[in-house]
Amino acid sequence: SKTAVIIGASHAGVNCAFALRKEGFEGKIQLIESTSFLPYHRPPLSKSFLSEDKDIADYCLKSAEAYEEAEVELLLGRRVLHIDSQNHEVHLEGNHSIHYDHLVLATGASAVIPALPGMTVGEGIFPLRSAEDTLAIKSFINAKSQLEVVVLGGGYIGLEMAASLRKMGHQIALLEREKRILARVAAAETSSFFTALHQESGVKIHTGQNITNIEHLHDGRYQLDSDTGDSFVADMVIVGVGISPNTALAQNIGLTIENGILVDAHCETSTPDIFAIGDCASFIHQPSAKIIRLESVQNAVDQAKIAATNIMGNPQTYDSIPWFWSDQYETKLQIAGLNHGYDQVVHRIEKEQPQKQAVWYFKEGKLLAVDAINHAKAYVLGTRYLKEARQLHPDELANPEIPLSK
Ligand code: FAD
Repeated sequence: SKTAVIIGASHAGVNCAFALRKEGFEGKIQLIESTSFLPYHRPPLSKSFLSEDKDIADYCLKSAEAYEEAEVELLLGRRVLHIDSQNHEVHLEGNHSIHYDHLVLATGASAVIPALPGMTVGEGIFPLRSAEDTLAIKSFINAKSQLEVVVLGGGYIGLEMAASLRKMGHQIALLEREKRILARVAAAETSSFFTALHQESGVKIHTGQNITNIEHLHDGRYQLDSDTGDSFVADMVIVGVGISPNTALAQNIGLTIENGILVDAHCETSTPDIFAIGDCASFIHQPSAKIIRLESVQNAVDQAKIAATNIMGNPQTYDSIPWFWSDQYETKLQIAGLNHGYDQVVHRIEKEQPQKQAVWYFKEGKLLAVDAINHAKAYVLGTRYLKEARQLHPDELANPEIPLSK
């Protein structure tokens, strides 16, 4: 029988292994992961796993028994060094190789560490991508109250880190290079909401700050110098400036790379029988005809299923409505759709419930996406309208006198 090998055991890889079994794959499934923890949910790393007294085992994706029952061979602490696509083999650390008939790349992404003088990860400077990173941060903090923390980057990870650390009692300065936080991913209305939320919670937000140098001071603290001439001093620095896809294995065997391992609508790469899914994969987004790469649990899980069905010879195409969430303090943001190329925004604040808001994105009158803030109904409605490609009238939507359900 055939062997399916999956490289990377996180949201994408684990879901693909189980989807293969569900689809009736009868051969061997080997799931190879370079790190050692039982695969876990990543979103809590910046949320409850950081701020609460929890164990990483509380967040496992599947129990150890579930892998046994499904006969998914989980090889933890084993890194794939290279792929031999001619001979259908993957080579692991320790001179070990494994044959595959079907190969799935689910290698994810790694935190970007800006190449700045003084940017040495470890000691008091931490990225946040893995459980090891959160554990390192927790151990650095180790019950110290009132640390001064600089968070570099005002994207979702940076904001969640700021919220969690603030809740734990630390002093936070969040530094963003752009003129506003969330500039890359959201409209100004959403940025303003989250700026106010953080400022009301006591986080200092400094925009337009491009850090050019970090100095480790004699007292163990860090000084960050901006090209504006401003300096910021902190006990701990969190680096949240983005991620880059892990494409080296794919690149070495000549797969097409375009901001990720480029796949078709079946999640197949430029080489037959090699699939790529999750944060490492890029694809053509049909509505915009642009190559995109999504960094979300939804995308990892949905692509995992698509790859599995295609491996089983049952061709299905990926056309999910993207969704994403972020939790900061008591605020829940849910995003449906993709706002790329929007030309109109409707910001709706519910009457007498100003904490309930939604930012709706349109292009040429057509709904693209919604940022629903504490607003499950807007999220559900947005998802439904996107799925059914139904017309939503921006003018009516903008009128808070008209109930959303109408
Ligand atoms: P990854 O989770 O990156 O996993 C890839 C795995 O491959 C890793 O475990 C890696 O060790 C392994 N690997 C790589 N190379 C090799 C190799 N050569 N050999 C063996 N193993 C290898 N998404 C949301 O939708 N909502 C959220 O609220 C949210 N919050 C997040 C908070 C944090 C702190 C982080 C870090 C991410 C968050 N995300 C969130 C994003 C989400 O976690 C990712 O989209 C998701 O983890 C992608 O899954 P993946 O399996 O594609 O990649």
